[in-house]
Amino acid sequence: MLTAIEGLHHVTSMAADARATDAFFTRTLGLRRVKKTVNFDAPDVYHLYYADGAGTPGSVMTYFPFPHIARRRRGAGEVATTAYAVPPGALPFWAERLAREGVEGLASGERFGEPVLAFEGPDGDEFALVETPGDARTPWQADGIPEDAAIRGFHSVALRLKDATPEAELLRFMGYEEAARDGTVTRLVRAGGNGAHRIDLESVAGAPPARLGAGSVHHIAFAVPDRDAQAEVRRAIAAEGFNVTPQIDRDYFWAIYFRTPGGVLFEVATDEPGFARDEDPAHLGEALKLPAQHAHLRERIERQLVPLD
Ligand code: ZN
Repeated sequence: MLTAIEGLHHVTSMAADARATDAFFTRTLGLRRVKKTVNFDAPDVYHLYYADGAGTPGSVMTYFPFPHIARRRRGAGEVATTAYAVPPGALPFWAERLAREGVEGLASGERFGEPVLAFEGPDGDEFALVETPGDARTPWQADGIPEDAAIRGFHSVALRLKDATPEAELLRFMGYEEAARDGTVTRLVRAGGNGAHRIDLESVAGAPPARLGAGSVHHIAFAVPDRDAQAEVRRAIAAEGFNVTPQIDRDYFWAIYFRTPGGVLFEVATDEPGFARDEDPAHLGEALKLPAQHAHLRERIERQLVPLD
């Protein structure tokens, strides 16, 4: 069993409109844009990062906005809900704020004994806020959001699967333990994790396969401290029979990727070097940053991308 994985590092999704996505995460949810760059594999598309003030692993939501792509079809083999942790007592503030902002899909409930407020992102993305006691993470301070309500980082992601068994087995190998069951949902927890250390597995035997599009989570990334730990995880995952990529330089972290039995794409990303690598921490996310291999395209890229601010 692996011991290096700390919880989630980031969640990466697809959107149809860069400006709507940017406004939703910065203004509505009060997160900080910590990086404005491009998709390293398709540099005419943004890669936008929203997180706490420092871009701490476990708080980082990232987006590829592909202009005008069709919405996804919900189904099996995808990430369903991405949930954020907020302090106990914060949900009434959020219910009122999100309703005022015209956010769709608002629904209050409870899961595993914790109050939950579900809502949708600009492309019908499934999100939730969960009242989470004892979360010591420091939130970003945004206009109009009191410190005692602000988002701390991810609480969990829920995977929607035809058969949760192989995914549960993989997560146990990655260091997670089964913590609770609620109907068709199993919660796995990484003990002593980084706050974003819960994964819910939802069995939906009869569901059609999900189809990727706007509002889809493209992949989820798990955090490891550094490249040595990542190399060990890579060897172990490969030895289990998974087809894992080499360690890839993503400028702000190193990444490996592999497809899981349930169809969800997993990444393992390093906590180092982080988002202050090429920007003053006081000005994260303001300038368009390009990786060295695409720096010569700056003029063309700047002409193509829609301005955000
Ligand atoms: Zn990623």
